[in-house]
Amino acid sequence: MFLKKMELGSLKANCYIIANSDTKYAAIIDPGDAIDKIINTIEENNLKVKYIILTHGHCDHIGAAEELKNITNAPIYVHKNDLALLEDKNKNYSAMIGRKVVEFSTDNFLEDGDILKLGNLKLEILHTPGHTQGGICIYVDDIVFTGDTLFANSIGRTDFVGGDYNQIIDSINTKLMVLSDYVRVLPGHGPESNIGVERSTNPFINKKYI
Ligand SMILES: [Zn+2]
Ligand SMILES: [Zn+2]
Repeated sequence: MFLKKMELGSLKANCYIIANSDTKYAAIIDPGDAIDKIINTIEENNLKVKYIILTHGHCDHIGAAEELKNITNAPIYVHKNDLALLEDKNKNYSAMIGRKVVEFSTDNFLEDGDILKLGNLKLEILHTPGHTQGGICIYVDDIVFTGDTLFANSIGRTDFVGGDYNQIIDSINTKLMVLSDYVRVLPGHGPESNIGVERSTNPFINKKYI
């Protein structure tokens, strides 16, 4: 498996490139900014982009998605509950960040339980609402990409439009804490962790799962 993390943009959102080492088929998760950097990595590694996957619709995670789609012809995938965020600069907060305004659409939607394949790699979609209503995590092999749902020792904010604290806690407990301790957590901001560490030390995790 090819895996590359890039911290992009002023809000330092993590963009991840995951690819099948044999077929070179790749998924770009959260291309938030710096399209040149993303394209360079794709070209240097001879990757063929099959999917652009957005963990949710905030501007720091979607800012370069449309440019990436135009260059690679890969479809943009998002949970339908966050479509309105992609389409509205106020809802994705690009109007307020003081950088370029982001508004685009897609008709490729992901639901809980969907599987996207990169050769023999299976990317399983986990719907984890709470940070936004269309927030997803992506589970593949021993890795889960958690977007702004779960961070190392923290969780995503729930004070944005569509945020819900009880819902994000429920999402984390029912969709992420059921995974094995060794599963690597690759979040939308900040450093890597794993499920076992978060289960035992994350102050937001429901105690009954410890
Ligand atoms: Zn966010
Ligand atoms: Zn973010």
